[in-house]
Amino acid sequence: MTSSLDTLAVHAGRGDLAGLGVHALPIDLSTTYPLGGLEEAAASLAAMASGGKPLGNPVYARLHNPTVARCEEAVAELEGTAESVAFASGMAALTACLLAARMRRDGHHVVAVRPIYGTSDHLLSSRLLGLTTTWTTARGVAAALRPDTVLVIIETPANPTLDLVDIQDVVRQAGDVPVLVDSTFATPILQRPCSLGAALTLHSATKFLAGHGDVIAGVVACNAEWASALRQVRVATGALLHPLAAYLLHRGLATLPARVRIAQAGAHELARRLARHPAVARVRYPGLPGGDPSGLLGRQMQGPGALVSFEVDGGFAAAAGLLADLRLITPAVSLGATDTLIQHPASLTHGVVSPDGRAAGGITPGLLRLSVGLEDPKDLWRDLEAALDRQALADRATPQATPAPAAS
Ligand SMILES: *Cc1c(COP(=O)(O)O)cnc(C)c1O
Repeated sequence: MTSSLDTLAVHAGRGDLAGLGVHALPIDLSTTYPLGGLEEAAASLAAMASGGKPLGNPVYARLHNPTVARCEEAVAELEGTAESVAFASGMAALTACLLAARMRRDGHHVVAVRPIYGTSDHLLSSRLLGLTTTWTTARGVAAALRPDTVLVIIETPANPTLDLVDIQDVVRQAGDVPVLVDSTFATPILQRPCSLGAALTLHSATKFLAGHGDVIAGVVACNAEWASALRQVRVATGALLHPLAAYLLHRGLATLPARVRIAQAGAHELARRLARHPAVARVRYPGLPGGDPSGLLGRQMQGPGALVSFEVDGGFAAAAGLLADLRLITPAVSLGATDTLIQHPASLTHGVVSPDGRAAGGITPGLLRLSVGLEDPKDLWRDLEAALDRQALADRATPQATPAPAAS
């Protein structure tokens, strides 16, 4: 219907507001609702407990909240899916997907491609949910499947290396096993995994979707059958999104296309400059020459995104020194905020990952992950360049651990 995502982002989930006589998104904080007719309320409760929508009366806010439902409608419109289901966090959303997958298929085996977000890696590697995970590469998915595999999990762009994974190829390899794509780094502005065959598109909405660093939220876009299973899990486990958080998330969606465009342009500029700086050993950014070996940009993902990872010479000490020298850019985990954040994956977001897992995922001690915000890239570069220059000087002043050649 509406052709442009820019327009959709502004209007999604707001179609009925004029009819309600309001302009801003309404917030419903009720925990309970007057029952009205007991039979009708009981029927509505039964429908929701089995994953359905309320039959009029929401009855109790763990079952349904209109503010959250409105936000879910908006995310589904942006992802081009029938529905979406919101959760208290990205991790609550992933947990619900794993439980829903086990409801829909008999088994407790998962196939996942490394690297992914550190806590997701930890959840899948631990026995917390009674799952067994086979870790593999994007090309090894078919070989890793078992008769009891309930879900294949990938992340693209991957956190923190920004490798792009071919969604359609993984879906082909998975056959009738559903594929979940963590699309947090891409947002629906750059990529819509369900249109490429994924069953579930997961977002840590804490990041770009909400976009202002003041909301923890997760959301899964999917078809009606998966949404029903996810709501059933949410009702039973109580991992729901608070309506105030849903309001902020929905408000953030209106500016999502503009924020992604501005941040992406800044990231591209910084990636090019970082690649030329002598203190930088390697830049990982899909938009740089060689950064997209599978040719997925333009085909799967409409732009290289707003995250840039880079390795500094000198390992952990150099990475820590660089963070300490920044003045404008904030050293902090998380991403997709209005301001630029930088963090050290090996000790922070991926600190819980096993050393083998870190090595397999290319998470080296000198790797830093930059989430570019909406500032002028010239100001951001001035800050980065000054810190990198100081780093390069310190490098030259420090004697190398490996002995220098006897004569030169
Ligand atoms: C942050 C993040 C998560 C976890 O989301 P929370 O909202 O922090 O629970 C999952 N996947 C990716 C890619 C993330 O960046």
